[in-house]
Amino acid sequence: MFETLSKAPGDKILALMGEYAADPRPTKIDLGVGVYKDEKGVTAVMSAVRKAEERILANEKTKTYLGIAGNKGFGSAVLDLVLADAVDRKRVRIAQAPGGTGSLWVLMQLVNRARPGATIWVSDPTWPNHMPIAENAGLTVKTYPYFDTETRGVKFADMLATLDKLGKDDVVLLHGCCHNPTGANLTNEQWDQVAASFARTGALPFIDLAYLGFGDGLLEDAYGTRKLLAAVPEALVAFSGSKNFGLYRERIGAAIILARDEASADIVNSQMLNVIRSSYSQPPDHGAEIIRTILEDKELRAEWEAELNAMRGRMIRLREKLSEAIRQRSNSKDFDFIAAHRGMFSLLGLPNETVEHLKAANGIYMIGDSRINVAGIPEDRIGDLAEAMLAATK
Ligand code: PMP
Repeated sequence: MFETLSKAPGDKILALMGEYAADPRPTKIDLGVGVYKDEKGVTAVMSAVRKAEERILANEKTKTYLGIAGNKGFGSAVLDLVLADAVDRKRVRIAQAPGGTGSLWVLMQLVNRARPGATIWVSDPTWPNHMPIAENAGLTVKTYPYFDTETRGVKFADMLATLDKLGKDDVVLLHGCCHNPTGANLTNEQWDQVAASFARTGALPFIDLAYLGFGDGLLEDAYGTRKLLAAVPEALVAFSGSKNFGLYRERIGAAIILARDEASADIVNSQMLNVIRSSYSQPPDHGAEIIRTILEDKELRAEWEAELNAMRGRMIRLREKLSEAIRQRSNSKDFDFIAAHRGMFSLLGLPNETVEHLKAANGIYMIGDSRINVAGIPEDRIGDLAEAMLAATK
């Protein structure tokens, strides 16, 4: 059977992690893999999560099946968090899924059931897993302009011009906040214009919301999603609890559907549940129960929000310090975009030779496209990092 297969390509980020681990230099810096790290370089369990787990362990009475849509309390708590009162809940359905990835997977399968082979537009560039998930579902992937390599901001006029030309058969994947890999995001006014464009063209917005709370705040980061959903008859959202709750390995996310009315929401939801039933059948409970416990409890929720705020604040401080260190040493504003970006990443816009040079000469590891994880910036070595970056880009 299997002699028909050749080796599939390996994951570039995992390969880079291996190279980093094997590098003996004590001065090496890991700006590669996309997980939040604290000042000690550790991806710790959040304290609100730990407390919720203790409660769950003490109170859990059964391990029986959860049901296809998953943990109900988790579902409504996530809808409150993501949508608040932006849309009539009668038009909304939610299913817990394994991570943001599982949520994207379920929703793309659903889109392909509705419109086999439909075109899904993704930003140029985007998270590299978007394309294979869409292609595996049978969809056709095209890109819309997004990152401006000159300004390191969003090429908004070009993006909007492309969106304005789309129609009812098109699906558009948007990062709800904290764009990965670029760190360049839409302003609220730009979200308003995007929402108006979708309302005009009838294209289907599909929002990937993997970093809610990592940009400017829980409320601020939900602006685009709420605005867009309030403006259109139908939309999809893939939510992830991996980053904002630090639950990466628990695989917790949610697939959200906005339908034109209650009756169509029931129909679309039945198809979504059918996609899930015929793949992994039902989601695991642990991550969902943690999030439900935190969001439904006043004290745990306040503790979680405070921890999330501290993480976000730290990332913004590191951005500002690195930009400032480069500005002082170079007398130029060329890297000020790092402070303007939001979320865990910035795309530096450096050629691959420069990325390779920083790795070989300085032990500074970033993804080949020059994406850095700002949470990996060591606060006490920002000067070294700034100097290495300036020397490599001269
Ligand atoms: N979307 C984006 C843009 C991401 O960066 C990630 C995580 N790297 C995900 C979705 C999926 O996250 P997970 O499946 O781990 O929840």
